Amino acid sequence: MCTEPKEGWTHHPGGPSMHSSTLPTGESQSFYFPLDHPTMLGWFKGMEVIIHKHGLWPDDSLPAQCPGFHCPLDRTDCCCCQLLYMQPDFSNQKSLLQELVESCHYLCDFYPKYHCELNFIEQYWEATKLCF
Ligand SMILES: [Zn+2]
Repeated sequence: MCTEPKEGWTHHPGGPSMHSSTLPTGESQSFYFPLDHPTMLGWFKGMEVIIHKHGLWPDDSLPAQCPGFHCPLDRTDCCCCQLLYMQPDFSNQKSLLQELVESCHYLCDFYPKYHCELNFIEQYWEATKLCF
């Protein structure tokens, strides 16, 4: 497991960050190295470290992603992206916007992408056109 910066990695202090997740064991997992880490203080841990923490790292290596993000349909462990995507703590994570809206006791309902006819405002405009 790598705990040293890799060639070409950069760290963006103060940039957007993900909040911690909960491992299947119930333990909280931060995606960032602690601020007292000897070489990577506050850096994003990376997929390899996170998968190791989940106890899912295979005996051999695992590519970061399949070429072109085209994973085989019958595999859930072909690459780091797919493996993490299938984990409940990743797949069940709501967006920050949805968490904010729901924390204010509102319903957050997203329209399907590219279906403007389902958007309420389009129905409203259609109704106003009928009035003239
Ligand atoms: Zn894949």
